[in-house]
Amino acid sequence: MTATRHDHSQQPDAIAHQQMEQLLQFQRDALEMITLDRPTNEILNGLCMLAETMVDDSVASIMLLDQSRSRLEVRAAPSIPREAIEALNGLQPGPDAGSCGTAVFKREPVFIANILTDVRWARYLDIAKRFDLQACWSMPIKVANDDVVGSFALTSFQTRPPDPFHRRLLDTGSYLAGIVLERDRQAQRLLTAGIAFEHMREGVMVTDANHRIIQVNQAFERITGYRAEEAIGETPRLLNSGHQSADFYRGFYRSLAQRGEWLGEIWNRRKNGDVYPQWLSVKAVRGPDGTAGQHVSVFADITDTKDSERKLWQMAHHDALSNLPNRLLLNARLEHAVQRAHRTGTSVAVLFIDLDRFKNINDTLGHQVGDELLKDVADRLRTSVKEDDTVARLGGDEFVVVAEGIADANSAHLIAERIIERLSIPVEIRGKALFATASIGISLYPQDATAPETLLQHADAAMYQAKAMGRNRLAFYAPELTHAIQQRLDMENDLRRGLANHEFLLHYQPQFDAADGRLVAVEALLRWQHPKRGMVPPSEFIPIAEETGLIIELGAWVTETACTQAKAWRDAGHRDFILAVNLSPYQLRTDCTTRLKDIFRTTGFPAEFFEFEVTETLLVGDDGSSLRQLADMRNELGLRIAMDDFGTGHSSLSQLKLLPIGKLKIDRSFINDLPEDTNDAAIVRAIILMAHTLGLQVVAEGVETEAQQHFLCHSNCDHLQGFLHGRPMPAAAIGDLLERGQLPLERLCDVK
Ligand code: C2E
Ligand code: MG
Ligand code: MG
Repeated sequence: MTATRHDHSQQPDAIAHQQMEQLLQFQRDALEMITLDRPTNEILNGLCMLAETMVDDSVASIMLLDQSRSRLEVRAAPSIPREAIEALNGLQPGPDAGSCGTAVFKREPVFIANILTDVRWARYLDIAKRFDLQACWSMPIKVANDDVVGSFALTSFQTRPPDPFHRRLLDTGSYLAGIVLERDRQAQRLLTAGIAFEHMREGVMVTDANHRIIQVNQAFERITGYRAEEAIGETPRLLNSGHQSADFYRGFYRSLAQRGEWLGEIWNRRKNGDVYPQWLSVKAVRGPDGTAGQHVSVFADITDTKDSERKLWQMAHHDALSNLPNRLLLNARLEHAVQRAHRTGTSVAVLFIDLDRFKNINDTLGHQVGDELLKDVADRLRTSVKEDDTVARLGGDEFVVVAEGIADANSAHLIAERIIERLSIPVEIRGKALFATASIGISLYPQDATAPETLLQHADAAMYQAKAMGRNRLAFYAPELTHAIQQRLDMENDLRRGLANHEFLLHYQPQFDAADGRLVAVEALLRWQHPKRGMVPPSEFIPIAEETGLIIELGAWVTETACTQAKAWRDAGHRDFILAVNLSPYQLRTDCTTRLKDIFRTTGFPAEFFEFEVTETLLVGDDGSSLRQLADMRNELGLRIAMDDFGTGHSSLSQLKLLPIGKLKIDRSFINDLPEDTNDAAIVRAIILMAHTLGLQVVAEGVETEAQQHFLCHSNCDHLQGFLHGRPMPAAAIGDLLERGQLPLERLCDVK
């Protein structure tokens, strides 16, 4: 450090030149200390000492604001005695806080030429007097962001204002002090950042322009499993899980190139092979030399968050019983499937699956059995389709399958058939062999609809169609269905209302003995007197009553009403006719024997004069329990059973041997074209012959003409029922018929 006091004896020009030289030297010396990285205290003291050599009769000092920025502390003052320093410490910046406190407060130079007379020093006069301070010039010290952090001051032991050289010296001194202090702040910041870097919970990785890892922190080591020395020098590919697509990386690099950053979720692989999700932020930064190309990646391991998120997601999107996707997830999957199919030009099949008569299983065997059956159905559905296809449960006994990559309607058909086949295999649940047949409705994208929601609605409509066609089958969507569905829904509501409003009544149709014209039986036929639609035929509402389970209540009502009526006829003296009542197969799936016993008891009608008419559909899908119940009714209660509509189903005559029936009713369709249709004529004759060999009585249904009657009589048919002899009629009209007891004989066959 070299500096010389200027010599007043020299010429003004020479003085100015010398002063300039001194200032330059001052700067050079200070910068040398800074570049040599000398400690801050040493440099600040050096600045003060250099300044003092350039201004005689003065001392230099540097005061800095403390942490809270409310007090000034003397940081460097090599020539000021300790007591003076202690007296000055803690000076509070303000408008009248001596030279330094005022300079810092006002952020401008404060030059006080005479301390003793200046109000700004009024509060510090003792100090001034004690140390003989006369003048004090102070300059605020500013750092990079223009913050004032302290003051650089020259204090004289004579009263004087600063000359231009003094001012420049103060200016330079405070500027140099600012540089040193800024360096300090940066270093402190780096130190703090370094500590933070190491102690962050997030992993940090810095890569250079060649995408080589140049720095990682402890959290990086903990999360990835790689030690710093293993990672440094490698590229981030070290962490790749292979779970991200090429598309993903293209987007990733595009974002870095365009916006200098990327933020999002990414799956990476730990050293031990585990794949885990990260929340990652990557930022491009400029290196210390100003070159771009470094990247800083900060990431958090979000495995835990993901796990709980996944659980929540699983809960919100799956059905708890079957663990299948629920409606919410189904909607999302279907939407994706449709989008994919749109792109690839393929088809999607939506299969709406509804179990047949599941309600009865629940009602008769209990919900636990029902639940187990549903779980079993869920498993079977899952294994009936490809792994990528979606099987969802909408609730109750409704399931939906979304099959992708379908070539045509035929492939959808095959899937539905496979499902029907799989479901038909009985499973043992709590000791009972159970199975659930299903009705399946199919809609296709893009043939039937393009909107996911509409596809579902159409499949649903088709499913109803499958039910209407007799269940345990599939149906494709047809546009006219939608209207039918609406009608069906209206009908269901109507039925419930009708039942509550007593809109149902019974008509009775007589059966006569073919030999002597005796009235041998009356069949109760249900009628619905609808307030708006008039008389609704049973073919329109019985299937819906069966599907909704209303048939149980309706059927019981029919039996009870018919028995009450027939008991009245008996009481009127007509004791040898049979009362026939139609029984739906659905009724047999619940325990109807107990109810029936009650009816016989309360109405007083004798069971041996009672006949249930059942159809062959009863045998479809029966595990034997319906038949057993029929047999029990016959054996325990003594009632009769007739096979109705014979010939329309699939049962062969030989099967009839196994059934607990005593009577066979030949379906109207065989009678219609008699006697001209020789085929029908042969069949009817054969049926009558076979039935008689099996010991069964035969009734011909739908006898409308004399010719039909004639043929039937000649074929030994036992009884006749049809419009020719009597339409279904109100009870009162039957009362009259019973009074007469017999048809005029001339209307019957003359052969017998
Ligand atoms: P079903 O048991 O075979 O009843 C005979 C049906 O044939 C009746 O139709 C009757 O009106 C009709 N019929 C009788 N003679 C003739 C004829 O000479 N010509 C023509 N064209 N038709 C004739 P209905 O009353 O409309 O009943 C239809 C079906 O509805 C019944 O067929 C039966 O299966 C069912 N059904 C009626 N009442 C009940 C009931 O209370 N419970 C149940 N589960 N089903 C019932
Ligand atoms: Mg009948
Ligand atoms: Mg019939």
